Amino acid sequence: MPVTVVVGGQWGDEGKGKITDILAADADLVIRYQGGSNAGHTVVVANEEFKLHLIPSGILHKDCTCLMGGGTVIDPLVLAEEIENLQARGHSCENLRVSYTAHVVMPYHKHIEKLAEEARGRDSIGTTLRGIGPAYADKARRLPRPVRFRDLGNAQQLRKLIADQLSEKNIIIQHKYGQPPLSAEQVFEEIWPAAQKVSAYAIDGQRLVQDALRREQRILFEGAQGTFLDIDCGTYPFVTSSHPVAAGACLGTGLGPTAIDEVIMVCKAYTTRVGAGVLPTEIAGEQGQFLCARGQEYGTTTGRPRRCGWLDGVVARTAAMLNGATYLAITKLDVLDELATIPVCVGYEIDGIMLDTMPSWPDDLEKVKPIYEELPGWQQPLGQIKARDDLPTAAQAYVEKMEELAAVPVKLISVGPSREQTIIIQ
Ligand code: GDP
Repeated sequence: MPVTVVVGGQWGDEGKGKITDILAADADLVIRYQGGSNAGHTVVVANEEFKLHLIPSGILHKDCTCLMGGGTVIDPLVLAEEIENLQARGHSCENLRVSYTAHVVMPYHKHIEKLAEEARGRDSIGTTLRGIGPAYADKARRLPRPVRFRDLGNAQQLRKLIADQLSEKNIIIQHKYGQPPLSAEQVFEEIWPAAQKVSAYAIDGQRLVQDALRREQRILFEGAQGTFLDIDCGTYPFVTSSHPVAAGACLGTGLGPTAIDEVIMVCKAYTTRVGAGVLPTEIAGEQGQFLCARGQEYGTTTGRPRRCGWLDGVVARTAAMLNGATYLAITKLDVLDELATIPVCVGYEIDGIMLDTMPSWPDDLEKVKPIYEELPGWQQPLGQIKARDDLPTAAQAYVEKMEELAAVPVKLISVGPSREQTIIIQ
């Protein structure tokens, strides 16, 4: 694997956590490169379920160092809680590191995001209200200089940066939203206990990555969210504020693009999406609810039911190109076990023209008509199957169709939530 990126090929929630957890067993370094506590991974180990929002899934492997890269945004309150929870369950977190340069999600980011979403009413973006967007917006604004992870260990510096930020933010809070101003001292007091705890994990992340590369260590990058939630490549404006695509691994850690050897794109055997925005293969009514219930499609972070759709081959092909995918990891194939036939979108039609990749302009995407092919179902459980050749013929055909549509060979097929329920193709 020398340098591998695991990336979501749809709108997030593809099961990247499980795939990363499996690959992390062979990694020296596992890195999250973007996003914050708006991500949510569920990893099941020996029937024990771990829900992680910030910390990379590799944390469950003791010999593997886990880094939150400079491209992530960290809420110290969430990170401190996540560390405590893992420690209470016997995982020391001694192998955790956080880049000095990661930006910090502060209580005022969450407050302002909530006020802004409430003010937008029905036109809200549907964010997770974790303060991620406002933290990235401050990063792009640069001044007043926002709080970065290294600042958390220095009370005097932290106090100053909070006061600088609130001198501007309180104007917005008071005059745009008509709410009382926040007290800099109260914000400091709220954050300081967690800040002290988590600042122990701060390091020069860029140097850690470059040293690992020089020593030819096995590095695994763990993408959060998914390709079409990328702020540049996704279905804007219903996207996240960072770069989930594979290129984000470079931006978020200081890795040159030519250092990447493999990009494993995780795709669910069907499609889901949380919140607003276009979803061409969305299934209305009972069948959508069936997939949602059988796939347990409820957000790890928010608990919101996800919108469900049939597999979209145009999405898969476009995502494979955007990420330079070298392999496909198919997840949740077992969720389709009971269906007699399974529609698969093999192309889009727009104004009489056929497309095999997605239009990048959202209004055009709203207009596409998915073209479906009906594949036979297998109507038997896949959960115990250990080899590709042992899959029922119809399930093999479904996997082949996914490879054909994405134009990328499959490397892993997941047929259940646990580590053991994974077919690895050598
Ligand atoms: P992530 O953010 O991409 O890691 O995805 P989530 O963790 O939000 O969603 C994946 C969910 O599906 C988790 O609850 C996993 O335990 C579960 N899961 C992963 N792979 C499979 C699979 O192949 N079959 C089934 N039934 N569940 C799976």
